[in-house]
Amino acid sequence: MRVKIGSLLERKGEFLLVEREIAGDFAETYPEVLKAQGPVNVNLTIVNTGEGFLVTGDIKLQAELRCSRCLKPYAAELVAEVDETLRIDGSVDEEDEDSDWNLVLDGDELDLTDLVQESLLVNIPMKTVCREDCPGICPTCGADLASEACECPSTDVDIRLAPLAQLLETSQSESQERRKDNGSTKEKTFESKD
Ligand SMILES: [Zn+2]
Ligand SMILES: [Zn+2]
Repeated sequence: MRVKIGSLLERKGEFLLVEREIAGDFAETYPEVLKAQGPVNVNLTIVNTGEGFLVTGDIKLQAELRCSRCLKPYAAELVAEVDETLRIDGSVDEEDEDSDWNLVLDGDELDLTDLVQESLLVNIPMKTVCREDCPGICPTCGADLASEACECPSTDVDIRLAPLAQLLETSQSESQERRKDNGSTKEKTFESKD
């Protein structure tokens, strides 16, 4: 996405409003994004601060995401708030996390492609869920627990008791193996015990 900023050059304090629609298909490279539904709406203000350009505003995309629990598609709006400084000298201030963008100025055109795309992609949630209480699918039989109950024994273990349950399981399988060893004349097999 290229923006002509000729009116800002050499004019500290000058600003420019940018309203654009750009293709959103780049977001589909992200595995949780099944489909971009429409263009990316870019609303930015670019200010010449004297030391560089401050880019603020928001970037929005309607998308079809995949729920990480039930794996079904759902519609969501991805929104990125932008507040980035592009320095004229291209230097990156390590102390300031907001300035990690290189200024890509070609004549009087500023290339904001990377900034727009990456700002949006980092705002895709790590855990996409169709709804907060999505029960997901049964890890044993794969049933969609939102629409059907299954017969599998509950795997819900109190988190505080989980180490105990694990311990019980280990000691059970160990005693089973011991029984096998005692009763068997077959060659010993070297199985991993984890
Ligand atoms: Zn879900
Ligand atoms: Zn099940």
